Amino acid sequence: MIDEPVAELILRGTPISKGVGIGAPIFLSLAEEEVSEAPLSECGVEDEVERYRRALSLSRSDLQRLQLLSDQDEQPEVTAILGTHLEMIEDPLLTQEVEARIRSRQRKTETIFHHLITEYRNRFTVLQDSYFRERVRDIVDLSRRIITHLHSPSTEKGDTLAHRSVLISHELMPSETIESNAAFVAGFISMVGGLSSHAAIIARAKGIPYVANIDIILLERFACRRMIIDGSEGIIIVNPSRKTLLRYMEIQKRHGDKERSLQGEVHKKTETHDGLPISLFANLEDPDEVTRALRMGAEGVGLFRSEYLFLTRQAFPSEEEQEKIYRKMGEALKGLPLVVRLFDIGGEKRTSLAVGSEDAKYFLRLEKEANPALGCRAIRFLLRFPDLLKKQLRALLKASASLNIRILIPMVSDLSELLRVREMLEEIHSELQQQGIHIPVLPPLGCMIETPAAALLSEVFLRHADFISLGTNDLVQYLFAVDRMNPYVSSLYPLPHPALLRLIQDVVLSAKSAGKELFVCGECASDPAMVPLLLGLGVRSFSMAARQISHVKKIVRSLSLEDAAQLVQEHVEKS
Ligand code: PEP
Ligand code: MG
Repeated sequence: MIDEPVAELILRGTPISKGVGIGAPIFLSLAEEEVSEAPLSECGVEDEVERYRRALSLSRSDLQRLQLLSDQDEQPEVTAILGTHLEMIEDPLLTQEVEARIRSRQRKTETIFHHLITEYRNRFTVLQDSYFRERVRDIVDLSRRIITHLHSPSTEKGDTLAHRSVLISHELMPSETIESNAAFVAGFISMVGGLSSHAAIIARAKGIPYVANIDIILLERFACRRMIIDGSEGIIIVNPSRKTLLRYMEIQKRHGDKERSLQGEVHKKTETHDGLPISLFANLEDPDEVTRALRMGAEGVGLFRSEYLFLTRQAFPSEEEQEKIYRKMGEALKGLPLVVRLFDIGGEKRTSLAVGSEDAKYFLRLEKEANPALGCRAIRFLLRFPDLLKKQLRALLKASASLNIRILIPMVSDLSELLRVREMLEEIHSELQQQGIHIPVLPPLGCMIETPAAALLSEVFLRHADFISLGTNDLVQYLFAVDRMNPYVSSLYPLPHPALLRLIQDVVLSAKSAGKELFVCGECASDPAMVPLLLGLGVRSFSMAARQISHVKKIVRSLSLEDAAQLVQEHVEKS
């Protein structure tokens, strides 16, 4: 790192998630490199303990100051989280245990922390309880704060540090974004990462600005104390001047005001200008977000990405845990639909499970794949490990007994996959029946249309599926052969593209003539350029990140079907 801070500097990247964030940088991937097992020299140990104590004390004053501010700003949720962090920072685990380990193991604080957090995670994430999941999030947030202070120059005063962090990584993992709390994470920056990568989807769902395609190696060389991230324009400003800072604070405020004013749309009906009702559902990754999604106007959960139950704790939840989660979500929805997608594991949604952990066996049996997006992913993975699939189906069936639950199969590319899942569902149904567990009707079974093969054969799939859901993120990836993780290619064919529109048109027509429901649950469902066209093509059910619902409602209410059909003509028929 260059020790002298550079003057204000602007770097340009790819805008991924809108909004402005201001905070202190934390280099995630580089911090990991610091997890070195090299021992400290004997005489360096006490200096390291001192360094840790100083970081702890700066973090403590940070938290106290922030608590005061959030109290003044009347943000009770943030005040409560900060209160928890203040309690945690006094826990002997942090005050005594870390120091004891620095001395006994003679390792750097970062290394000790890394091990401690891994232990903590392993201990608590096996408990599929939202209380413990929150505690894991708290310890991750708190440790990030302490690590930031470990890196701050020794002359620095705690009260001048930016209190929120910008997380910087070579490539952001979906699990890193899902664990980030918008109250503390001001933004994400990565070297690689496409617009519809899962990390991007989650950043947008949480309203955290994100810019990809930034040379983070260069960035790390500047002694950056504070940065602005502008996710709408795709720029970051290192060490902003006071004038720039004030300008961006104003932009940030305007953005917040606009979001708040959109909340006024929540109680309005979702219908087109000429009165056609449209349904807007929420995409969820976190099972505890149902109530918030309802508050934001969702008419149900159109896509629950159940694989996040695995990704956030690095172990598959047991059948009983799953049943409990699905039941709790279904009950919170009070009769509104809950579409649970079977684990979409593989591709970029993989994880480095510790060898020896219970579930590592599934991944160890997979060959190293040159093209994971084209590999053993989603339903292919599940059919390869049917014990996992059966557990999930049993849990879903049991939870569905008195609730409005539907099951969705990810990444189907051949009819046999749908037929096999249906067969398994029926087998499990009769097994449960024999065990005296009575489930009156099988839950509706649908499949994602996200491979061109499934889209082209949607008519055939619809003979066996109860509903379908267009996953446009993957459909775009496979249709144009553009890796959704790669910013250099993922924006090569800007939407709306006539090839995609034509394909969607065929799928919508098939669903209409089969009389079955079609959802659109990819990012297109909330893309302002795509929503009018989807409406014009005949889509009536849209599923998206909850915070997008008011935006989409506003678009829907401003359009008549005639306008929408006209737009389709311009884009499809004249292409
Ligand atoms: C999609 O592919 O459009 C989709 C909704 O699924 P995911 O983004 O989780 O792959
Ligand atoms: Mg997909």
